[in-house]
Amino acid sequence: MGGHKQRDFAKQIVRRLRIAGYQAFWAGGCVRDMLRGVRPKDYDVATSAKPMEVKNLFRRTLMVGAKFGVVIVLGPGTQVEVATFRRDLAYKDGRRPERIIYSDAEHDALRRDFTINGMFYDPFEDKVIDYVGGEVDLRRKVIRSIGPPQHRFAEDHLRMLRAIRFACSFGFALEDSTARAISDQAQKIKRISVERIADELLTILKSPGRAGGIRLAGELGLLKVILPEVDYSCAAQRLAQLSGASAPAGLACLLYGLDQTYQPKQSGDRAKAIARRLKLSNELVDQTAWLTETVRGLVADQADIEQISLARLKRMLAGGVFRELLWLYNTVAPDRACRQLRQRCRQIAPEAISPAPLINGKDLLVMGLRSGPRMGKCLAAVYEAQLNELVKTKAQARKFVRHWLDST
Ligand code: ATP
Ligand code: MG
Repeated sequence: MGGHKQRDFAKQIVRRLRIAGYQAFWAGGCVRDMLRGVRPKDYDVATSAKPMEVKNLFRRTLMVGAKFGVVIVLGPGTQVEVATFRRDLAYKDGRRPERIIYSDAEHDALRRDFTINGMFYDPFEDKVIDYVGGEVDLRRKVIRSIGPPQHRFAEDHLRMLRAIRFACSFGFALEDSTARAISDQAQKIKRISVERIADELLTILKSPGRAGGIRLAGELGLLKVILPEVDYSCAAQRLAQLSGASAPAGLACLLYGLDQTYQPKQSGDRAKAIARRLKLSNELVDQTAWLTETVRGLVADQADIEQISLARLKRMLAGGVFRELLWLYNTVAPDRACRQLRQRCRQIAPEAISPAPLINGKDLLVMGLRSGPRMGKCLAAVYEAQLNELVKTKAQARKFVRHWLDST
């Protein structure tokens, strides 16, 4: 999104608005990121033009957010959000403003959340317009509320998690009164929808500062509300050891070993229940549960990696998140075991991981077995033998089945 195309288009939009007599700047996150020397994800435009006036100036627009002063202007293979300078009024339930009024640039800066997010930029004069002291805070690496933090977090509780998210993504510190206000109001985070909370939480877990982010969320009392099950100090220690970042790895690491007395099976189930409660995608729920359960299984067995069956290794490789499995295992197991696991798995050819079964239910019917639970067990046993490479041909598989039927 935030490539050159969008950058150029966002500049053209500013030009067009100015020629028509309006004020227009780049605004918010893109200004912050440019000043940090990071390529912005998105370029947003803020202007004195009202939504209908914006609409009339451009050929293709989407008016989906026009009620809140936002028009999407469509360009060649890109699009830019153009927002009218505004003030947000009458926050409802600490979530969203019920009403906005159009206003000027300065008020538009003042309605934003943190000073580093409250700047404008003039792409023609190459000039930053800063009503909120954002440049200084950016230099000092500080996240500071615009205006009284108690009030700003009472208006919109999600800002508490956003503060932590920005702090840990950028390696910034929270300004004292901003941190104190979060600590005072942490309880209110429960009024925010679980989807929006989970979104911020995942961003924290994917950021390089994830360990510090979780520790901060714990210290300020937010984590206790969102995930009362998690001991943030242990989780932060594990996260600090996690060598890569992805949503499933971060989540599994956060939710790992919730209760040391739990059996492997239950540990996975518990992680799963929590991931479900956060309304994450089915895929992410399954991956998270699989990771916690598999690693917990390895640790609970005090697994001698050399003794692990080929079939079990292949099932680990087939899980789709093997890289994450190694990362997570690494946070809880000795280095030597991790090296062994990596080495053994490296020796397995990709096509050997989940081969087509040598024998299927039809074959078993032909061999005189009736369908039912016993057939299921038999199929599982012969496939296990195949994965263990004890059975390599169809003839061997049949022999295995006959033997299995005789002995069980
Ligand atoms: P990112 O790079 O993660 O997208 P961003 O700063 O662009 O960060 P957005 O959520 O895209 O964050 O919001 C764009 C801008 O809108 C912010 O920079 C900030 O000025 C303002 N903003 C966003 N959410 C809020 C909020 N909850 N309260 C006040 N201002 C907000
Ligand atoms: Mg953004």
